[in-house]
Amino acid sequence: MLLIPSLKKKTKHQDILSLPDPPLFYLPLGSYAGDMQVQVAEGQQVQMYQQLAASTGPMSAKVHAPVSGTIVGITEISGDRFLTLKNDFRYTAQQLSPPDVDGMGSAEFLAILAEAAVEGSGGARFPTHLKYNIAPGTLDTLIVNGAECEPYLSADYLLMKTACDNLMRVLQLVQRVLASRKIVFAIERQHRELEKLLLQAAKAFSLTVSVTLLPNAYPQGGELQVIKSVTGLEIAKGTIPAKHGLLVSNVGTLWAMHDAFFDGKPYTERIVTLSGNRSKTLGNYLVKIGTPVGHLLVETGNAWDSDRHSVIIGGPMMGRAAQSPLTPIHKGVGGVLLLEHTNPKAMNCIACGYCVDVCPQRLMPLEFVRHNQEGDLAQLKSYHLDDCIACGACAYACPSDVPLMYHIQSGKAKLQQERRNGQS
Ligand code: SF4
Ligand code: SF4
Repeated sequence: MLLIPSLKKKTKHQDILSLPDPPLFYLPLGSYAGDMQVQVAEGQQVQMYQQLAASTGPMSAKVHAPVSGTIVGITEISGDRFLTLKNDFRYTAQQLSPPDVDGMGSAEFLAILAEAAVEGSGGARFPTHLKYNIAPGTLDTLIVNGAECEPYLSADYLLMKTACDNLMRVLQLVQRVLASRKIVFAIERQHRELEKLLLQAAKAFSLTVSVTLLPNAYPQGGELQVIKSVTGLEIAKGTIPAKHGLLVSNVGTLWAMHDAFFDGKPYTERIVTLSGNRSKTLGNYLVKIGTPVGHLLVETGNAWDSDRHSVIIGGPMMGRAAQSPLTPIHKGVGGVLLLEHTNPKAMNCIACGYCVDVCPQRLMPLEFVRHNQEGDLAQLKSYHLDDCIACGACAYACPSDVPLMYHIQSGKAKLQQERRNGQS
């Protein structure tokens, strides 16, 4: 693991602010795996919270309208498809009907998560109703993942600080439905001031929770890393934690779950940190899903200017550079960063081994470069490229700026293609 600057100080002490909504929303029609089937027609008027698309497979979630307005059609942005909704600024909403949580069983619990289209807010967007599909009584430890280990990001910190009652209320429900034996908050040591706050809030809800303070290291917040830090258990990538009696839920996901269970509200907004060394304003904002990043920038006194800065959706380590100001905020986006352009000049590998030292998965990233260049898929597999969590720690540590992430992503794409070809 790496010790890297946290760069959170400026945003973690700010409140969560709201911004004016955009005239057009772009709602993602692809999620964790699989696509969505659009259920509305061009020109149709829709209400806020109305379901607009359904999942076509078991691994994706529904799409709901974040505001009322008119369906414009489908827009392609940087190769992905988005349902476009024109905001009428009337906010005519479907009546929300909060479920009766008293006596709720696990089947209804999962149905509500699916109905509200809650997805993991930590990045991967895994549908939450699938994650919580665990036989009641088999869950030993529910780990609340508050380790927001990427630099700059502070959205989860703010939720733990300002919405801890909501988090405890939903944890109380989870504990009743799933009968989890332990609840552990995993937070970074740099946020140790939260410990007292969380324990006090838990007491008010008659919940027994503990707090594990993790080192301020990267990547501490990955599911496998957080499980290892909290329980000491090392589980292989691809293994379902529930098989070990474990469940890891991100703070932002629990917040969205609270809205679903106690307000009957679908997942249509989230907290996003705006930061970076080229951002004129730094802060945390409540942003509706589908808001174009260009709108967020303009409303915060910034601008889309690809000549002057990169716009990163997510954190600086795992985030992706937005190619268009229309690129929208989705349920897994915790940050938007404006960063100075860097043009590192790749040099030859000097076999220093730093990339190996920092890899949390104990892989040999330098070998991925060699075998990807040679197109040797058998060797990529034998060096366990599939176990790579794409955290970027190796690239950060490399003194020669070898394009490790390029070769890792390219190698992963080749392995995926090979698997697809094998299936067809
Ligand atoms: S090889 Fe993968 S898991 Fe290891 S440091 Fe690099 S990106 Fe992270
Ligand atoms: S850190 Fe960079 S230079 Fe060092 S072994 Fe890894 S790829 Fe080579």
